[in-house]
Amino acid sequence: MTGCAQAPVLRERGQHEVFCGLTGIVWLHRKMPDAFFLVVGSRTCAHLLQSAAGVMIFAEPRFATAILEEGDLAGLKDANEELDRTVAQLLERRPDVRRLFLVGSCPSEVIKLDLARAAERLNAAHAPHTAVLNYSGSGIETTFTQGEDACLAAMVPALERTDDANLVLVGALPDVVEDQALALLSAMGIAAQVLPARRAGEAPRVGPNTRYALLQPFLGDTAAALDRAGATRIAAPFPFGEEGTTAWLRAVADAHGVDDATFARATDAPRARARKAVSTVAETLSGKRISFLPDSQMEPSLARFLARECGMEPVEVGTPYLHSAIMAEELALLPECRLSEGQDVERQLDRLRADAPDLTVCGLGLANPLEAEGLTTKWAIELVFTPVHFYEQAADLAALFARPLRRKGLLLGSNT
Ligand code: SF4
Repeated sequence: MTGCAQAPVLRERGQHEVFCGLTGIVWLHRKMPDAFFLVVGSRTCAHLLQSAAGVMIFAEPRFATAILEEGDLAGLKDANEELDRTVAQLLERRPDVRRLFLVGSCPSEVIKLDLARAAERLNAAHAPHTAVLNYSGSGIETTFTQGEDACLAAMVPALERTDDANLVLVGALPDVVEDQALALLSAMGIAAQVLPARRAGEAPRVGPNTRYALLQPFLGDTAAALDRAGATRIAAPFPFGEEGTTAWLRAVADAHGVDDATFARATDAPRARARKAVSTVAETLSGKRISFLPDSQMEPSLARFLARECGMEPVEVGTPYLHSAIMAEELALLPECRLSEGQDVERQLDRLRADAPDLTVCGLGLANPLEAEGLTTKWAIELVFTPVHFYEQAADLAALFARPLRRKGLLLGSNT
């Protein structure tokens, strides 16, 4: 079966409605408690971070915005000096910070502030205690998940080299889910390290005998950086739902020569639990039509899970960028549907209105207007804020989609 592997892709390049990559800081700062994210941006960037992060009160916050004022637009020398001063003050006050990320934004890119050079200069001043790296979270032509990709890709060149054979899992999952993944692999005798590591001292090493398995579909730049470091990607669908998790584990197990009996011993019980839990939630989802607007690059994987394990019918599966190599195994499993890449928002909304699906997955900015038109929506961003990977979260993933349908059913007074 080839699924959507050979399906035509509707490619669109027009106005798009997405959050920028700064959003990733909200989950990355939780994942790396010894890291600090210094956004070099404007007040708009600071407001975005605050609203994406919700109301969070920290004794010691771990992200901030170095505000570029209008005067900075005129004098780059001052901007660099001010950045050096801000970083020195921050690190003096916060000796617990072991990794400092200078995060570029639209304003820093517009004034061509060279953050790569700034990171090099600051790294020379503050390493080895604090490693200083940079990446761009700018909203120009990016989506909100690309911030994580850019951050992890920036970490790869700084990883120590090794010729040893090792396995690296790539993607920032909640600790509890990451622990489940490591335990499943450990039950098959497989040891793994994770990028990003929770602590600076635990960073994985990479080299020609490194294999890596992606945990998220949106990590194309990180995969390319690991390839350049000589590592080899283990091709697999992504660990969403029982089927995706089993296929992902199987691919990793095959790469390590794990036999069928060992694989079954490690996976049979959690597989059965996941199948049973998903089937209960699937009652609400089965037979419903779903469309995805392009937001996260997770769309094809989620559509595959909802179609094959929950009985939903994907109508249009839009994704901001379709990485054909990374998504090959997913597309082979995805039932026939309209695949689209990129966005021309008005044309996509016209198609959506004509399709009138039961559920639309979209960004926050579009959800309210679409609800007002009578469509039922699900916010794409919740899918990265909620633990949804691997067996124990499979039913929670299905429930994220069932909830808005149930709510709608209650409002209409039916048993949807
Ligand atoms: Fe807005 Fe760009 Fe700042 Fe993101 S990086 S908040 S898109 S100005």
